[in-house]
Amino acid sequence: MSDQEIIVVTGDRTTGPLHLGHLAGSLQNRLRLQGQYRQFLLLADTQALSDHQGDYSRVRQSVIDVALDYLAVGLDPKQSTFLIQSMVPELAELSFYFMNLVSVARLERNPTVKNEIRQKGMERDIAAGFLSYPVSQAADICALKGTLVPVGEDQLPMIEQTNEIVRRFNRMVGSDILRECKAEVGKVARLPGIDGASKMSRALGNHLPLSASPDEIRHAVQRMFTDPQHLRVSDPGRIEGNVVFTFLDAFASDSEQVAEFKEHYQRGGLADSAVKTYLEQVLLELLEPIRLRRAELAKDPDQILSLLMAGSSRAREVAVLTLYQVKKAMGMFYF
Ligand code: ATP
Ligand code: MG
Repeated sequence: MSDQEIIVVTGDRTTGPLHLGHLAGSLQNRLRLQGQYRQFLLLADTQALSDHQGDYSRVRQSVIDVALDYLAVGLDPKQSTFLIQSMVPELAELSFYFMNLVSVARLERNPTVKNEIRQKGMERDIAAGFLSYPVSQAADICALKGTLVPVGEDQLPMIEQTNEIVRRFNRMVGSDILRECKAEVGKVARLPGIDGASKMSRALGNHLPLSASPDEIRHAVQRMFTDPQHLRVSDPGRIEGNVVFTFLDAFASDSEQVAEFKEHYQRGGLADSAVKTYLEQVLLELLEPIRLRRAELAKDPDQILSLLMAGSSRAREVAVLTLYQVKKAMGMFYF
């Protein structure tokens, strides 16, 4: 694949403001790729409804929140196209065709979806839209002609499923209309929650938003899971599974200092509180400029909506073209 052909497509569900997991798993890669390649960033409001049925006001507010987070971390609508999923109806149309290219059994085997169903206690009452959300993600990527998808590790099964659909479709129409895509996983493939759970997630309520105030950062760091066996300061401590050290690895720029802390902690004699004070400072330095920039931008929500509208119509041009190619290949143009 030549460089000119690379198109970056990724996105976030609009279920609340973004958090540190998004930053480490995906936003940092988007920032790195921005300007190098054409990039589409999708605010997935339609998909958000698959587990937030009827929560329309939250999903609507989150569209603004996520866009503010994008801008505050440095994603630039002049270089990256921001689009609202529901404003590009071709995405839903392509999902509908794709829905016939995947079996219910295959959807039920998707490990990420399986895990989410268990976490959310949806076993008895799962919405068809939730079970099939990987299909709608496949349609989002394909409609926008994405080939590179910056995501966290939890999304790898979605990329695999997308490529299965692409291959099946191309085989059925006898032509390589759709292109396969590749995941670009972040430096931290899966950032744990502040409670030590395996993934920071809004749904689990164990997240630290990018817009957190200094007080919220302090409280989150204080609550952070460390080594439960590290009772006395003089005891040797464990850094594996210790969220404070995972966060330092992810976000501290002074790796020598982090290595020194690790060595001291494992040897014994370094208090949790000392490492936490350091982490609090690291997170403050990282998040304070983001919070201030965001607060400034939040004063003008109309401007945010108009840039989302412009981005959505630019993205729609690409999706319309894909749908034309797809339907033509299926023989579904009648006039
Ligand atoms: P929700 O709880 O509503 O599902 P979420 O916090 O899981 O929200 P998503 O919108 O589902 O966030 O994820 C958007 C992108 O951010 C995906 O690429 C996902 O892999 C990445 N991401 C989210 N949380 C993390 C995390 N803890 N570590 C690494 N990447 C993450
Ligand atoms: Mg999620």
